[in-house]
Amino acid sequence: MIAPDLATAIYALRDLLEAAQAVVPFTGAGISTECGIPDFRSPGGFWTKNRPIPFDEFLASREMRDESWRRRFAMLDQFGDAQPGRGHRALASLYRAGKVAGLITPNIDNLHQASGIAAADVVELHGNTTYALCLDCGKRYELAWVREKFEINGDHAPDCACGGYIKTATISFGQAMPLEAMERAEQLTRASDLFVSIGSSLVVWPAAGFPLMAKRNGARLVIINREPTEFDDIADVVVRHDIGDVLGPFIAH
Ligand SMILES: [Zn+2]
Repeated sequence: MIAPDLATAIYALRDLLEAAQAVVPFTGAGISTECGIPDFRSPGGFWTKNRPIPFDEFLASREMRDESWRRRFAMLDQFGDAQPGRGHRALASLYRAGKVAGLITPNIDNLHQASGIAAADVVELHGNTTYALCLDCGKRYELAWVREKFEINGDHAPDCACGGYIKTATISFGQAMPLEAMERAEQLTRASDLFVSIGSSLVVWPAAGFPLMAKRNGARLVIINREPTEFDDIADVVVRHDIGDVLGPFIAH
């Protein structure tokens, strides 16, 4: 069913949530746009103007590492203050109510954790951009520390004491997908009885694999996205209204 209006969508979603025991939300860029974070993949978006730096170039060139950090700090100035939106807060409410065991997201903005979901229960398919890791020894670095060193060094990225390169904890183009996160995402999906895709076009792998996996395992499927997706036909409910408007009523006060 494609929800004909907002009220019907909220009503249908409430019914499904009440009946479900194991809800697994899958969230894409669309849930964070109301927080002021643009969808970088969208036409005209950041990535169409700034070619992403592939992982092999990051490794091969100090200039690329410096450029990568320069961009990160520019983004920090622009989006560093972003706060969770209504979608994030509604999901955190469902989590606190015991309905949500874990959440899967390719988003790297840390807003689910900021809304109150334990970091261990947010499965990040593309990592997290709000802190950094040494690529060799795995030591964690905070962005403020990296920035301070960067500026002291005359706009050169610092390296780890072990000699490894320090990079935001994200998965870059050409970098291996995190195996543990992928496995956890599959487990959650298979164990779910209600899979809710929110703000994802479900085009990019691995996002595209999850709705089908959930459906094949007998879960109900809800897709909330402005644009149609190729999985709308197999969804139990399709909602094409604003995410914040649809999920706002599920925020517990
Ligand atoms: Zn190191």
